[in-house]
Amino acid sequence: MSFEELGLSENILKAIAECGYTEPTPIQAKAIPAVLMARDVVGLAQTGTGKTAGFTLPMIEILSGGRAKARMPRSLILSPTRELAAQIAENFDTYGKYCNLSKALLTGGSSMGDQIKLLERGVDVLIATPGRLLDLFERGQILLTDIKVLVIDEADRMMDMGFIPDIEKIVSLVPFTRQTLLFSATMPPEIKKLSDKFLSNPKEVSVARPATAATNVEQFLVHADPRKKNEILEKIIRQEDVKSAFIFCNRKRDIDGLVKWLKGKRYDARGLHGDMAQKNRTETLEDFKAGKITLLVCSDVAARGLDVDDLSHVFNFDVPMTADDYVHRIGRTGRAGKTGRAWMLTTAKEKKYLDAIETLIKTKIPVEQVGVQGTAKNSAPRNAKPSHEKKREPKKQDQSASHSRGKPQDKKVDSGPVSQGAPNKPRGNHREHDQERKEKPDGNRSGVKGFGDEMPGFFDNSE
Ligand code: AMP
Repeated sequence: MSFEELGLSENILKAIAECGYTEPTPIQAKAIPAVLMARDVVGLAQTGTGKTAGFTLPMIEILSGGRAKARMPRSLILSPTRELAAQIAENFDTYGKYCNLSKALLTGGSSMGDQIKLLERGVDVLIATPGRLLDLFERGQILLTDIKVLVIDEADRMMDMGFIPDIEKIVSLVPFTRQTLLFSATMPPEIKKLSDKFLSNPKEVSVARPATAATNVEQFLVHADPRKKNEILEKIIRQEDVKSAFIFCNRKRDIDGLVKWLKGKRYDARGLHGDMAQKNRTETLEDFKAGKITLLVCSDVAARGLDVDDLSHVFNFDVPMTADDYVHRIGRTGRAGKTGRAWMLTTAKEKKYLDAIETLIKTKIPVEQVGVQGTAKNSAPRNAKPSHEKKREPKKQDQSASHSRGKPQDKKVDSGPVSQGAPNKPRGNHREHDQERKEKPDGNRSGVKGFGDEMPGFFDNSE
């Protein structure tokens, strides 16, 4: 099937072609015609399936015919996290670039004044997290009585985050005659109930879960002593071809500890979790997307739905406590036809979670042995690189280019004996700024710009 056959207009087809999409993904092929026929849709799909375009493209088509009025947006997309909302907004800009529609991104942590100004001018689409939307509504800044299309994205995650009462409130504020699209990666009874209540005779569309059909994600399991998890993780990172990775932790406090530890080992790592200031979260995410950070240590909530191209690896530092989260986590790699690798550390205490995952994915995850003798404090010298790495040494002028930009991420350190997956290795367009300066064997980092002189400290992860 082609995009032309889906009933989208020229301006949208042109934008899609510029994205390089040649054909709709299965969820798009199923959802787009239904949305264009004004049907309610319940989509069982998770990120990585192309579901954002599945609802954004037909919404743009529907909205193209009308004009926005001040404070009366015509459509509303609800998203559980700020990052995901920002990503949807980006998609909206990309796909709608020839359609002259306006949007407002209403998320917490950003200036309400700017958001109010946009609303006053009139917007076609609101992309919002539930809390900020209600806040603005209660201040009398928005009227939701002109909403024609409502999208509830990542409904199951909304539930996990306690947003269902907010969603119910918001739905009670939009017209009964609106069209509703609800997307969820899973369909627990609560979401089914919500869908039955808010959607009218919906068309059900679903795509196979990536984890069950994950021929493009290779999975590995490592039995780990809880006190040695940091070292084991590092050893895996060193032996893998890590271009960019998410490292998932179950607890926020562990994120900061692990980031510190990895930085101490001179890895280009940063954390992403809900307790961080919004500005910091946004910057971190932008830097990661731009390839300036190699390892993003994150929580499920923070990473949920983030669309980061070319993620080569996912590391589960902890076994997720719900099997669905495992599916979401590893779905971050092996996207868009690429292959990815997903490693998970497991301790004896986590057996019941592991069993639940293996039951869900109907697979026994192959076990790998990773010994960590000598890799804790006395790591092997990290200045030795495989020969294929040496080929990719940057030119001198690249280093000065990075310098002049003065970004902290440009402070490169040696990437050690990791193959392409070396810490600090930018991806994509930023490759030209790659600076793999060598550390002197005696550990003197003269000529090496890194994260200070912090030496690795033992980080006890025992539970
Ligand atoms: P999503 O599931 O919406 O997060 O999308 C996952 C990724 O697939 C995004 O990077 C999209 O840009 C990309 N994508 C969406 N639709 C298509 C398509 N039809 N062909 C190729 N890539 C796509």
